[in-house]
Amino acid sequence: MINNLQENISLASHTTFRIGGPARYFAAVKTAQELIEAIKWAKENSLLFFILGGGSNLLASDEGFRGLVIKCKMSEIEYQREGDNLVAVCGAGALFNKLIVETAKDGFSGAEWGFGIPGTVGGAVCGNAGRLGQDISRIVEEVTILDADLNIKKLSKAECGFDYRHSRFKKTGEIILEINLNFIKKEQTEIDEILNEAKKVVKHSPPFPSAGCIFKNYRTKGEQDELLKDHPELASRVREGKLGVGFLIDQCGLAGTQKGGAKIWEGHANYMINTGGAKAKDVLELIVIIKKSVKEKYGIELEEEVRYLGL
Ligand SMILES: Cc1cc2nc3c(=O)[nH]c(=O)nc-3n(C[C@H](O)[C@H](O)[C@H](O)COP(=O)(O)OP(=O)(O)OC[C@H]3O[C@@H](n4cnc5c(N)ncnc54)[C@H](O)[C@@H]3O)c2cc1C
Repeated sequence: MINNLQENISLASHTTFRIGGPARYFAAVKTAQELIEAIKWAKENSLLFFILGGGSNLLASDEGFRGLVIKCKMSEIEYQREGDNLVAVCGAGALFNKLIVETAKDGFSGAEWGFGIPGTVGGAVCGNAGRLGQDISRIVEEVTILDADLNIKKLSKAECGFDYRHSRFKKTGEIILEINLNFIKKEQTEIDEILNEAKKVVKHSPPFPSAGCIFKNYRTKGEQDELLKDHPELASRVREGKLGVGFLIDQCGLAGTQKGGAKIWEGHANYMINTGGAKAKDVLELIVIIKKSVKEKYGIELEEEVRYLGL
């Protein structure tokens, strides 16, 4: 038996969407050793396991998860300063926003664009969280992981396979234990300018439970892009090679569409909100409707940014 093993824990209470049935087993781990013991226990008992960060990018099944959910609580942040450079050595379970606030307050730049993004540093690295034309991969120096054979390894940034809202960890299932992030000293006014931009984004976030954007934005393919050839009116909306999917969903007339307690938010149609008592099944129905409508109108396949737990 492992320490702190809990049974039948509501996943709704561990996700920002507030959706999801019970995890059959649940364990919060504070060290790499506790994590290894939890995984060994799951394997000995022929159970699947799922690594949970802050639960802010997840849609959990209404039936819950029949295996072991392992919540990352390795939340230490150690700062190593050398002149104008700062390396933050973050446990995967450290809160991303805590890191942002602490570094920005001390005049170190690197993550201030992310102010208000919920969840953990491990979750942010796994999904290469970003905003305002930035993403966390830009400040990653090194990532310490646990591989499938339970060996601890260090990966350089180049080995992490970062791309738009993507990293190798989404495919390999390797578990992020610790991340070294690079910050650089800047004028406080420069940092505050970006912080204020980020605060504006937060101000326009939905006042309901959500999992952030449901879909990845559409990446254009330069002059060869079929969507822009067929819909030249969209060209002026392209920012840094991406077209906001919220606008496309809106143009399909879907903002405000509701299934059960889940609704496509009128304020930004790439968000779905839980207006109260939403089920995963409601969200999935809306996802199907959106994908079908956008495919019919624009001929493109949308890809989910939200990750599924038990679905
Ligand atoms: C209101 C709101 C605003 C948001 N704004 C943004 C935004 O501006 N930009 C953006 O990019 N995202 C945004 N998000 C989405 C979300 O906050 C980010 O994707 C966040 O980085 C997810 O981190 P998490 O710890 O909550 O991960 P979780 O949701 O817990 O997990 C996400 C995935 O990461 C995996 N994972 C988590 N920890 C580890 C680990 N240690 N090792 C390996 N895999 C791991 C999980 O297994 C899962 O597959 C927003 C969400 C909300 C609710």
